[in-house]
Order: sequence, then structure tokens, then C-alpha cells
Amino acid sequence: MDAERRAIRQRIDAGQLPVRVRTDKCWAGKSGGGRCSGCDELIQADDNEYEVVMDDGGETSGSLVFHRQCLDIWLTECQRREQSVSND
Ligand SMILES: [Zn+2]
Repeated sequence: MDAERRAIRQRIDAGQLPVRVRTDKCWAGKSGGGRCSGCDELIQADDNEYEVVMDDGGETSGSLVFHRQCLDIWLTECQRREQSVSND
């Protein structure tokens, strides 16, 4: 298991990342120098960042910024968890 996946799983477990399969909006763009919500590393200025906006008016509204690979890991982990919940 790579470090990013481990970090993202821990964050989901700790409630620091939501479990959200369907994202309301997602933008790709040049990094503004922020930190990745997945691995907590800086997104370098020459990298693209992927911003996910959750605008449902609820407690989880807000935006998250990811590296491309971290976004993929997060979405995969969310799908895995959603499936395991619905199978209970
Ligand atoms: Zn990251």
C-alpha cells in the first residue's frame, strides 16, 4: 500500500475526509500552492490541482483540493466504503 492511499484511508477513518462518491463539481487547474486534502503535501506550483466543491448546503459543504492521484484514490476509497456499507 502506498503512502498516499494509507494517508487518505486514515483521514476518512478520522472523519477528516467525507465519503462522497458523487462530487458536485470538480475543477482542474494550476496549483495555487495549497495543501492536498488527501496526503497533506503541498501541491507544487507546476502541478495541476483538482478542486472538488461539495455544495449541498449541509455540514460537509466546502471544497477539497487534491493531487490528481490523490483524487483518484479518494474516489476509489469512497466507492469501496459505500459498497461495503450497502452490503451490510
Ligand atoms: Zn495528495
